[in-house]
Amino acid sequence: MSTQAAAEETAVVIGLEVHVQLETDTKIFCGCSTEPADDEEPNTRTCPTCLGLPGALPVLNEGAVEAAVKIGKAIDADIPETTTFHRKNYYYPDLPKNFQLTQYDAPICQGGALDVRVEGERSTIGITRAHLEEDPGSLQHAGGSIETATHTLVNYNRAGTPLMEIVTEPDFRSPAETRAFLAKLSEVLEYLGVFDATRDGSLRVDANVSLVPAEEMADDGSVSEDVLADANRAEVKNISSHKGAEKALAYEITRQRNVLRRGREIEQETRHWDEARGVTVSMRSKEAEKDYRYFREADLPALEVSDWKAQIPIPELPDARRERFREEYGLDRESASKLTSTKAVADFYEDVASEFDPELAATWVADNLLGELNYRELEITDVDHRLDEFTRLVELVAAGELTVKNAEEVVLREMLDEGDDPDTIIEREGLGKAESGEVAAAVETAIEEHPEAVADYHAGDEGAINFLVGQVMAATGGSADPGEVNGLLRERLEE
Ligand code: ADP
Ligand code: MG
Ligand code: ZN
Repeated sequence: MSTQAAAEETAVVIGLEVHVQLETDTKIFCGCSTEPADDEEPNTRTCPTCLGLPGALPVLNEGAVEAAVKIGKAIDADIPETTTFHRKNYYYPDLPKNFQLTQYDAPICQGGALDVRVEGERSTIGITRAHLEEDPGSLQHAGGSIETATHTLVNYNRAGTPLMEIVTEPDFRSPAETRAFLAKLSEVLEYLGVFDATRDGSLRVDANVSLVPAEEMADDGSVSEDVLADANRAEVKNISSHKGAEKALAYEITRQRNVLRRGREIEQETRHWDEARGVTVSMRSKEAEKDYRYFREADLPALEVSDWKAQIPIPELPDARRERFREEYGLDRESASKLTSTKAVADFYEDVASEFDPELAATWVADNLLGELNYRELEITDVDHRLDEFTRLVELVAAGELTVKNAEEVVLREMLDEGDDPDTIIEREGLGKAESGEVAAAVETAIEEHPEAVADYHAGDEGAINFLVGQVMAATGGSADPGEVNGLLRERLEE
């Protein structure tokens, strides 16, 4: 037996291979669009190149290279002088050329790292490499799953969509850590503007998992190269979400522990995550690199990328922006986190904060707006073209022309539900702040109609004033300011 240990004394080692679709207008080696049209027919968004027809040549998409360079800068990777493309040869029906155009020994990003935080603990996940390649087409297993289908349909519309494959070091020690990493990675990619997390299948994960003897793991969680190489690992394919990764890995770890408990050895193999059933199933014994007969793609010259790094700027990344929000605007950790959750939210917040007190802006964006959007399953990007209307709402509150209560409970909600601007809603609902004369009259009426509350107040019952404030608020339809009403009542009662 290798170093595989008995089930009781094992520790978990996980490494990820993450495929992300890059947001470019066209495919990586041809001019076909990457954007699925509504109700598009299968095999219509194709051309001789992405169908692999004889004589069709690839032309590298500059936008895909730019996106890759941005990713490299964000994960602090080395970008080499030159990068090259290789053919990875294998037959599978979703691969029209019988090879995938990918990168091999000179990938565009080499090394790097990303910090993640799980339950307040920060850890650094090493990134081995990240390379560009083309997405294959997609298969549709008719009548069910890969195992039960009677036949399979193939659609090449996706074939040639640019992918970045990001390979991590085996640095994860729990499924929860992989989930945090994937969330962080999508956040960073989204900030870079190279990735759309809402697109179906835009992130796919292969998770490698093995169990190593617990005593081989140092206190800091490190494991020697020899032990890692010795451990038989399963590569779990077909994971398509952060949560899916966590679930698939939790299942796979239990399965491997059970295999060891029965005194058997873990197979080195490729397994398939069956999302619907929540299990991993064996697909094939794991292929080795030599099986793919990698060789240089003669139709694509080596690409000089050394000076791209200096020429392509990247925006401020989420961690840095979070820190800056705390320092520059005096926000607490939670608000700063919420307000930097996507670049669009952060940009929106800064636009509002530039016009008002940053803390007032934070309350309005982080608590009120995001809360109401979330309730309606909307994103900031659904409303960011209405920035002016939203700042107008905050302006009305800041100027004391609208009560906080009406702004939150009526105007904001109707803005989202009806699509009207705040002034229209205020006019329609009669929410303009009550005229002082109207408030004063309501104060008089409340005092006249509730002599018992007035008596209680004079007897020192503080609750009585709240009752009277409530009466005035009701009489003015909520358009008075409760603090002001409180002040007016006290003044009148002390006369
Ligand atoms: P392969 O060529 O077989 O895909 P790689 O060396 O490219 O192997 O590694 C693939 C992934 O497997 C990487 O994400 C790496 O971190 C991970 N990995 C390597 N060793 C282990 C291990 N012992 N347990 C879990 N994952 C591992
Ligand atoms: Mg691999
Ligand atoms: Zn094409």
